[in-house]
Amino acid sequence: MDIQTFEQMQLPEFIMKAVADMGFEKPTPVQTLTVPPLMERKDIIAKAPTGSGKTFAFGIPILCHIDTASKDIQVLILGPTRELVLQISDELRALAKYKPELRITPLYGGQPIEKQQNALKKKPHIIVATPGRLLDLLHRRSLKLDTIETVVLDEADRMLDMGFLPDVSKILERVKNRKNLAMLSATISREVMDISWVYQRDPVELTVPEDKENKPQIAQYWLSCLAVPKNEATLRILRLAEFERVIIFCNTKSMVRRLAEILQHKGINADCIHGDNTQSLREKVLRRFRSGDLQVLVATDVAARGLDIPNVDCVINYDLPPENEYYVHRIGRTGRAGRTGMSFLFVGYMDDVRLKDLIRRTHNDVIPVYFDENCNLVQDVEE
Ligand code: AMP
Repeated sequence: MDIQTFEQMQLPEFIMKAVADMGFEKPTPVQTLTVPPLMERKDIIAKAPTGSGKTFAFGIPILCHIDTASKDIQVLILGPTRELVLQISDELRALAKYKPELRITPLYGGQPIEKQQNALKKKPHIIVATPGRLLDLLHRRSLKLDTIETVVLDEADRMLDMGFLPDVSKILERVKNRKNLAMLSATISREVMDISWVYQRDPVELTVPEDKENKPQIAQYWLSCLAVPKNEATLRILRLAEFERVIIFCNTKSMVRRLAEILQHKGINADCIHGDNTQSLREKVLRRFRSGDLQVLVATDVAARGLDIPNVDCVINYDLPPENEYYVHRIGRTGRAGRTGMSFLFVGYMDDVRLKDLIRRTHNDVIPVYFDENCNLVQDVEE
């Protein structure tokens, strides 16, 4: 049977209520594909883009299986970055809203290890971890993995790209009583296939089709910043519409800091994240941005890696991204889960060749625009 609705998935009441609270009307395509096999504890390998509803695609079946009367760790979710780990934990907690006895513990580098050791003493049912920190805790004998039944590798390609292949293998070797392994990945790289080959049995292979519903709907524009400098162009764009959440990407930490200050000085509710921030500061800024308390977030690519922030209405590429792939990641922050978004790309002196290359290689339709004398944006007609 083709699953189209949450009702058809025959989910427990506590999940149906949480899903209804979140305002979700129906499962996203990745959820319709992964929930049935994961309910049966099959191994899966799913190719699904970020922002397609992946977290609940594995989160729903996981929460259905947890025995909260037990004090065992039953599920391990591995992700490449602390931001992703925190995001997954937050989303699962929201989904488990009506099952408050279910304990979820995030484990990641950058937070004092003693704090996480104490959290483990409270006997979580689910742990969400970065591979490095989990191994560290395993070496300190702070936890054991032999009661774990389900393992999820989220953003598997990115995790393996970041050099975590040996760590992930070591961890999987220690999950001795594993019933199933779910891998979710935007691309199925060699390393992803290798892990699948070694650790999965007859995996169900799933590809989320790039249909209109889950393809980001983003109106993309580029703007020459020779006549109107970048700072001024930023201010004009922010005045164009009542954007609720805007992310601006710069290529350097110093530019991120400077731009945030300039915008603040102009009375705009802006703040920034970059690699030099302490983690607690970064989390604080991100929480404000997520909650709608902060309108403009200025960020470097590294600081914003892997983040899912819903309802971003506009992304500004203040600097041309250093690599074409970054452009795709940057604009992918908007236009998520069927909503429409807008993106701008500032093109400076000598950037023309790179711009042409970027448009050609990413197969994106990026429309040239300029400001008219009333500061309205109009489409430029290329010769
Ligand atoms: P993810 O791919 O898990 O990062 O999810 C992307 C966004 O989609 C998150 O903001 C989710 O809250 C949202 N989302 C997940 N499932 C659904 C659904 N069935 N309907 C609408 N939005 C959803």
